[in-house]
Amino acid sequence: MENLGATMRILRPYPHVFAFYDGRIEGVRAYSPDPNWLDDGAYALGICSYAIVDGTEALVYDTHISLTHARLIRQVLEAQGVASIRVLLSHWHDDHVAGNAVFQDCEIMASAGTLTALTAHRHKMETAAPPIKPLVMPNRILDGDTAIQVGKIPVEIRHVDIHCFDAAVMVLPQSDLLFAGDTLEDPITYVDEPARLKTHLADLARMASWNAGRILPNHGRADIIAAGGYDASFIDATRLYVEKLLSLQGETALAARALQSFAPEIFATGAVTYFAPYENVHRRNVEAVTGQAGAPPSLVSLTSTASPPPECWYGSSATSQRHPRRALPGTSDGDGRPVT
Ligand SMILES: [Zn+2]
Repeated sequence: MENLGATMRILRPYPHVFAFYDGRIEGVRAYSPDPNWLDDGAYALGICSYAIVDGTEALVYDTHISLTHARLIRQVLEAQGVASIRVLLSHWHDDHVAGNAVFQDCEIMASAGTLTALTAHRHKMETAAPPIKPLVMPNRILDGDTAIQVGKIPVEIRHVDIHCFDAAVMVLPQSDLLFAGDTLEDPITYVDEPARLKTHLADLARMASWNAGRILPNHGRADIIAAGGYDASFIDATRLYVEKLLSLQGETALAARALQSFAPEIFATGAVTYFAPYENVHRRNVEAVTGQAGAPPSLVSLTSTASPPPECWYGSSATSQRHPRRALPGTSDGDGRPVT
């Protein structure tokens, strides 16, 4: 059933922004009927990479879910007259780096944490289904927040600790835009580091203080992205959901609820919309924070504000299908638990 890229849509939310959107199509899978990270963790939910273009220069924000997707992105940009491409990786997860090889002759920027995580997970990512092989590494490691120019467009790359410890987001001050990577998802964030949710909350507050006018996430609704993105209430919805997860201790009835009754307040913001495939994400999130599956993070550590680990704790839910069989060496699921 492999016909990767056939359903990818090219959206133009702004004259200088390309959005390469694929998935969120009911009943359609892109790679395989069997559980795999590409379909279950990205395509079913909707996945979007971006490019900022000015004149002959482009900055690609994530290389999408396959080499085919990445080639299509490069073709579109070159057809626009782009001669110089740089890449910024939002974080190390497979659905954001699978197309790196197509840009291996370009500058590929990432945080030091992204390089560390990719190095640690290289073998698992190269032998996953589908494999990312060879996994091409970033070749420019950013030292903290970094300002660059894409043509005449200033771009501020900022590191945040939301969703994943190594996240890099982008702010375009001239157009009041925030490219959020996976720090924000519609309707809910995907919890990969359940022991560090409190840290993520703190950085959500920091991100909200930037007062971005519009927000473009990597997992969201195509129609909203095409229309220019989400407003600041998107951050509020994410905060409310994370706070609800943090309130789970001892709340077994709450833990059993489906997404809409678990956190009706996030939908009341108007920022996010219920989308049934995220029910699996929510269930897995609840299991991750309550320790119902795999090796449980303790609820004590969940509320700690300990400094970030050099490697992110990786959720060990056996029902996880977003990044199956992926863990850092030495963590509890480092032997690659089979997907169920
Ligand atoms: Zn993602």
